[in-house]
Amino acid sequence: MNVVVCVKHVPDPNAPVEIQDNRIKRTGVQNVLDPGDMYGIEAGLLLREALGGEVTVISMGPVQAVEAIKRALSMGADRGVMISDDALTGADSLVTARVLAAAIRRAGFDLVIAGVESTDGYTGTMPSSLAEFLGLPQVTFAKRLSASASSVTVDRQTASGYHVVECSLPALVTVTAGVNEPRYPSFKGIMAAKKKPLEHLTLDHLGMSAADAEVEQEIVQISAVDERKSGTRVANDEAAARIADLLAEAKAI
Ligand SMILES: Cc1cc2nc3c(=O)[nH]c(=O)nc-3n(C[C@H](O)[C@H](O)[C@H](O)COP(=O)(O)OP(=O)(O)OC[C@H]3O[C@@H](n4cnc5c(N)ncnc54)[C@H](O)[C@@H]3O)c2cc1C
Repeated sequence: MNVVVCVKHVPDPNAPVEIQDNRIKRTGVQNVLDPGDMYGIEAGLLLREALGGEVTVISMGPVQAVEAIKRALSMGADRGVMISDDALTGADSLVTARVLAAAIRRAGFDLVIAGVESTDGYTGTMPSSLAEFLGLPQVTFAKRLSASASSVTVDRQTASGYHVVECSLPALVTVTAGVNEPRYPSFKGIMAAKKKPLEHLTLDHLGMSAADAEVEQEIVQISAVDERKSGTRVANDEAAARIADLLAEAKAI
């Protein structure tokens, strides 16, 4: 089973997000492998351990995003593919999916795994676009995942529980944060990662041009969400009547 895992290099979620020119500031800040993508890497490694094959980790971003791939290689992934090109600066979700699709097609795969949403942009739209570009069925919100040589079976999180979905391969699956317990890179893993194949690609290598990277979305404004108002305290002796009034005001009764 050859698994491709999409990973993103994001500003450290433990630090406040900085915005510059309506974009997340990525240079001059601490960036890390998106913690949400560690679950996808672990899922890929578990499938390889069960079924054999290889785990390829792929990322698109500024050159320093290769650190996310190195971290995945030290966790145990077999190879990495990093796509970076000046023409991709400010790429939106659709452009990202188009470019990743070209690189994934080139790498070859049975299964593509991505996070449900990234910790920085969190549009949650990149994997669906990617599945469409690759012509793949997609199973989203996997909270458990197993596979055979020809199909993948997923417990798909829903609002009230989960559905069990079986899907033939090749396919794309997005995984939730609870899907497994990501392993920590061992010292041996970190040393071994230095010798693993790591390809650096530009649009040229993918047979693409700046026209394929043209962004159709424009972020016109970013504003802070309103602070949550504090609740109303109702004294015991008047609680029932007051709550009834509040529900009526909200047209709930
Ligand atoms: C040169 C360059 C500059 C960029 N600058 C910016 C920027 O300023 N602001 C910004 O928000 N983004 C930037 N990106 C990244 C890119 O625009 C986003 O990754 C893309 O918009 C996806 O949106 P999202 O984070 O909402 O994805 P979601 O749909 O929320 O992500 C879901 C999952 O898809 C996968 N995924 C998402 N993005 C990538 C990726 N890039 N590589 C591999 N897997 C991925 C991950 O598994 C992730 O968990 C840049 C990329 C490049 C190449």
